[in-house]
Amino acid sequence: MKKHNFYAGPSIMSQYTIDNTIEAIRDFAGTGLSILEISHRSKEFTAVMDEAQALFKELLDIPEGYEVVFVGGGASMQFCMVPYNLLKTKAAYVDSGTWAHKAIKEAQFFGDVEVVASSEESNYKFYPKIENVPTDVDYLHITTNNTIYGTELRVDPDVPVRLVADMSSDIFSRPVDVSKYDIIYGGAQKNVSPAGVTFAIVKTDALGKVERPIPTMLNYETHVKKGSMFNTPPVLPIFSALQTLKWYKSLGGVKVLQQMGEEKAAVLYDAIDSSKMFVGTVSEESRSIMNVCFVMKPEYKELEKDFIDFASTKGIVGIKGHRSVGGFRASLYNALPLESVKVLVEAMKEFENK
Ligand SMILES: *Cc1c(COP(=O)(O)O)cnc(C)c1O
Repeated sequence: MKKHNFYAGPSIMSQYTIDNTIEAIRDFAGTGLSILEISHRSKEFTAVMDEAQALFKELLDIPEGYEVVFVGGGASMQFCMVPYNLLKTKAAYVDSGTWAHKAIKEAQFFGDVEVVASSEESNYKFYPKIENVPTDVDYLHITTNNTIYGTELRVDPDVPVRLVADMSSDIFSRPVDVSKYDIIYGGAQKNVSPAGVTFAIVKTDALGKVERPIPTMLNYETHVKKGSMFNTPPVLPIFSALQTLKWYKSLGGVKVLQQMGEEKAAVLYDAIDSSKMFVGTVSEESRSIMNVCFVMKPEYKELEKDFIDFASTKGIVGIKGHRSVGGFRASLYNALPLESVKVLVEAMKEFENK
């Protein structure tokens, strides 16, 4: 039975991506070789790289002056690459959840960090308001979607300084005004590809402004200049990313993905709001479209494990909440069909009626 996959990451991928990846593992682009065994400098693979970067730009309407780079290391390595490349003396960070918190810790290796907004005291129940950003910082860093807590900032904020965003778990879920950002980065394993590749959309004139020497591999300029081919890139995840981007384009692009995402989330949040048993964990105006966190009301709390078992009999997997929140988290990434959300909602109702 095909499962209803609500895992937070790595997570569900489109059948189109999986099928084409399998095919390329068997025979890549008619070469008679597997994509696993071909040179990254072959003309067939360089075509994949070029097309993936071009489609990234097309789908997100990325303006002139930006480059898309693919590197390894995950979003977690970007936590240090960003300050390495941009932080001269001081940076501002929004502390909106676990990942933001980790990004702050890395930036502190490079200079002063001012946390300008935080919801830590409320266990990250809401997205903190971004205001009074000081103008003497090198940049402001935000995490647009808090994968663990289920809160999201679905707008591109206007701030008086350079802006950097971790969009690991909500890239391609809405149109983004890229011109407001200097760097947008993310691990690809939520909305783009299997784990192993990290994307960074970089404004090239933001680079080369810090005095410190930067190790070659951690310098964005290396990857921009070499077209993400300075060393061997993660070939297979980049191939899969291209398939996902082609699938996104065939669906109609990010505006359509946004509508689909909002519809899926509305179905689930409506079910939570009208339930006697389940309750959401975050404030309504901060609710994430991508990761929906909920728990059982105190009087039913001891039934949480039973519901996970019950749901698994319906083919539902990956709804156990992160240990820092408990309860349930349903991740509704782009590749998850509406049908899966309906199956989950049905299971919630059936369980409640039992
Ligand atoms: C998953 C995630 C990360 C961590 O990504 P890695 O690729 O595992 O380093 C960072 N930030 C956010 C918002 C995430 O969802």
